Amino acid sequence: MCACNGCNSSGLSRRGILAAGVGALALAAEAPGARAQSARSAETPDAAFARLMEGNARYVSGEMNQRDFSAGRAARAQGQAPFAAILGCADSRVAPELAFDQGPGELFIVRVAGNFVTPEGLGSLEFGAAVLGTKVIMVLGHTSCGAVNATVEAVQKGNNLPGHIAGLVTAMKPGIEPVVKAGGTDLEQRSVVANVRANVSRLQTEKPILGDMVAAGKLKVVGAYYDLPTGKVILV
Ligand SMILES: [Zn+2]
Repeated sequence: MCACNGCNSSGLSRRGILAAGVGALALAAEAPGARAQSARSAETPDAAFARLMEGNARYVSGEMNQRDFSAGRAARAQGQAPFAAILGCADSRVAPELAFDQGPGELFIVRVAGNFVTPEGLGSLEFGAAVLGTKVIMVLGHTSCGAVNATVEAVQKGNNLPGHIAGLVTAMKPGIEPVVKAGGTDLEQRSVVANVRANVSRLQTEKPILGDMVAAGKLKVVGAYYDLPTGKVILV
């Protein structure tokens, strides 16, 4: 039996277990021999990122691709190959498929008010990257974010929010508190950016799946915010 730290009692390395687990998930996610024809998987993280930004440029200019949503439905039922994942806010005004001009099967989206990483959201993003093949994850904040504004106010006034809304503030506080404590103008927008950056940093280094994929150049994690008045996605 191998005595190295990476092996367990059955002699399988942690990497081996991870690979086996991901393989099983892949089988569950995709019918045998079938790969979704509706979505084109991106070749590289840079290509996936470029495709997102090109889609946003079409959206901003009002030159979105024409889509027949019924076309490709049967093919999509056989599997999925989204090229990008979005960690976005639940805000009703920020709809990723529209903002990036993408159709069904192209984006793998996790949404929660305040666009921060939760354990379940992280598991979803890991599944997207390791099993479905997303090449880029974008953490997407937005201007005038209610969850960010509530957190700024909670830090300033020390107030508590009702019910489970308090949990949002608790989760976002570490990323936003330094900005509020430092003071200055435009606190809310600077907090939007700080919140995005904190969650990008986390995803870039999260072990064992995403951090390893980023280090190997198989995945890119980027941060941006959606400007409500213009629809433009601005990198941070
Ligand atoms: Zn929001």
